[in-house]
Amino acid sequence: MGGKGVFCSARLGRRCRLADIRLRYSRSNMNNFHTIRLVLGDQLNREHSWYKNIDDGVLYVIAEIHQEATYVTHHIQKLCSFFAAMADFAQSLKADGHTVQHYSLDETVQYESLGHMIRSLCEHYGVENFDYQAPDEFRLMEQMKNLDLGPQFQITCYDTEHFLLPQDEISQIINAGKHNRMESFYRKMRKRFNILMDADQPLGDRWNFDGENRKKLKPADLAAVPEPLLFSNDVGEILRRIEKHQIKSVGEATDNLPWPINHLQAMQLLHFFCQHCLPNFGRFQDAMTRHGENRWSLYHSRLSFALNSKLLHPMQVIETAIEYFDRTDSSVDLAQIEGFVRQILGWREYIRAVYWANMPGYAQLNELNAQRDLPEYYWTGKTKMACMQQAIDQSLNYAYAHHIQRLMVTGNFAMLAGVNPDQVDDWYLSVYIDAVEWVEMPNTRGMSQFSDGGLIATKPYAASGSYINKMSDYCSDCHYSVKERFTEQACPFNSLYWHFMQRHGDTFSRNPRTAMAYRTWEKMDSDVKRDILARAEYCLLNIESL
Ligand code: FAD
Ligand code: SF4
Repeated sequence: MGGKGVFCSARLGRRCRLADIRLRYSRSNMNNFHTIRLVLGDQLNREHSWYKNIDDGVLYVIAEIHQEATYVTHHIQKLCSFFAAMADFAQSLKADGHTVQHYSLDETVQYESLGHMIRSLCEHYGVENFDYQAPDEFRLMEQMKNLDLGPQFQITCYDTEHFLLPQDEISQIINAGKHNRMESFYRKMRKRFNILMDADQPLGDRWNFDGENRKKLKPADLAAVPEPLLFSNDVGEILRRIEKHQIKSVGEATDNLPWPINHLQAMQLLHFFCQHCLPNFGRFQDAMTRHGENRWSLYHSRLSFALNSKLLHPMQVIETAIEYFDRTDSSVDLAQIEGFVRQILGWREYIRAVYWANMPGYAQLNELNAQRDLPEYYWTGKTKMACMQQAIDQSLNYAYAHHIQRLMVTGNFAMLAGVNPDQVDDWYLSVYIDAVEWVEMPNTRGMSQFSDGGLIATKPYAASGSYINKMSDYCSDCHYSVKERFTEQACPFNSLYWHFMQRHGDTFSRNPRTAMAYRTWEKMDSDVKRDILARAEYCLLNIESL
């Protein structure tokens, strides 16, 4: 083990002309580190101030650990992406001259938890300090706060230097337990960071171009959709390791991982997006198609993994996109760039702020008292509902579905059917490449399931089949008929929508944003209403075979 300070600096002075590498070898051999700094898998920020100076007394630790690989059943591509990005990050720190220990599952199998590993490493290296960056997840933050290393170790928590809204300002901007409007938050952020502003007014005199961003993809539009830029990162070794350690996973594995695993690849993806997708980003943001075989992400950026693992900084993404918009020959108009900036500067920062303002209670909210089990086809895609099959298959194959597939297809169905939000959360946390709790949970439990009683959304995102038909080409190829409401062939979304609205009439009939639906219901023939509700009951009773 060796005590601290064993390595004598006078002796070092005589040898200091030896090659760096030999020096580092001898130092680490003598365990002369004063500090261990832990880098978690979603803290791969090369621009962090930690890395500005090289200090041979600092040991950076990057570790694949069982606790993180198993706290939920992850998509196999998500596991591979995080592990590959962590290994690449460790390599790049080493190449810059930092001292790094990258531990694989093989080496950490002995530790029963993250805390256990940290304690063991601190004792083993005899350091005085343990530093970490504040985790984005409540679960991990609690673990770090409760770390008990003993009085001989100084523990210091650092900011991740990633988010635009400082953590300590969240409580001034977001009221815990109350609805906070995303739009107001977003406008404040636009002003604060002077993004798309003309003095104190929004560029183009409008804050929001959402109304222009709801186009369906017609067959003629499909050919113009770019094929996504996919990488081919060899993760064969990682896959074997995951198998060897019997880490359970879901989804389609691939030896050639298509996701970016370092800053360079993430920048390539960002430029690809700005060049090929941004010109149509907002316009087709909500569109869905079953003809997307090799164009499955449409005009979306697929930057969420790079952002959430911190390979990319949100301001770098925003500024790069705005550079493309600012070019004199730009094909990006204001509605497209505003739509994109809104996602990163608005939604992403807002969601994180709502999460931290409301945790830990948020994880227990179940305002609509939804108790049904998640149907098995969420894990297999084996359903006759074409929209669900498409969204689930795509999620299992690519670890990806875009926002409207998540919100208005799989999320909408789970809410209409009254599925327990714990199980819905588990599913979303499992299947997506970008799924980390701080962003997954408010989107799922809040925005898509209304389980938070409206802390995020002002109305439930509940829709019948006609919305899905309007935004996609799924229905024309479905076992069910989107035009029918109560026959055997009727689209399950249609009757379930009305059943949901009736079940929760007390909550939603007085809500101005949903009151119209109740007026429509009132005007319906009573036989039709009875038949619709009976069809919904049938669907719920036979939910596994829909
Ligand atoms: P784009 O459409 O290209 O958008 C650009 C970026 O904006 C995204 O990369 C993302 O960083 C950000 N963004 C857009 N919408 C949101 C949003 N609502 N919340 C936060 N950031 C947003 N996003 C995650 O990053 N992780 C999740 O686990 C996650 N779970 C979700 C669960 C549900 C039920 C829903 C409805 C949405 C969820 N989202 C999640 C938000 C959003 O669907 C994804 O960020 C987006 O689909 C990622 O694909 P993209 O990078 O191509 O996004
Ligand atoms: Fe989905 Fe209904 Fe359309 Fe089928 S008919 S694809 S179930 S919305």
